[in-house]
Amino acid sequence: MARTSVPCACGAEVFYGASSCTSCGEALPRELKLALEERLEASSEEYRVAKAQVFRASFATGILAVSYLGAGALVGGDLGGASTAVLGGVLLVLALVASRAPVPTLVLAIFLGTGTYTLSAVLDPAAFFARFASFGGFASLFGRLALLILQVGGVRGGVMLGKIRKGEVVA
Ligand SMILES: [Zn+2]
Repeated sequence: MARTSVPCACGAEVFYGASSCTSCGEALPRELKLALEERLEASSEEYRVAKAQVFRASFATGILAVSYLGAGALVGGDLGGASTAVLGGVLLVLALVASRAPVPTLVLAIFLGTGTYTLSAVLDPAAFFARFASFGGFASLFGRLALLILQVGGVRGGVMLGKIRKGEVVA
């Protein structure tokens, strides 16, 4: 099986990722785009798995965003006040658009999340390590690790989705 395609009204094959028919030039209607997506999902276990990975990573990023916005439950305020809220807002946007462009958005989310976490340790090591003296601190560390693993999985899933859609991987 080569690339997944759907037939255009003119009879030519339109492949995944194309916004218009290369033969007649007609813009691809929304129904055909959805049909292509459904065809990929139906025909490829790998595609479904990769999509699920991206979904879980988006969800994990959303949880991280909410915890930053709430400046508490899971992570605590890494950088304090306003910057934590801004970071939460950025992560929330990334979580919402992650399914459209998983690789760049999730890589950025991982970079921001782990970067600020590391930065908070560098800026105030005493306060950072004091958190791990409590059960809650340990729980938050493991919570973050779990979210990070899901995010990394989402990047891998996103790379796989791209390959399958471009036909580089026979699915
Ligand atoms: Zn056409």
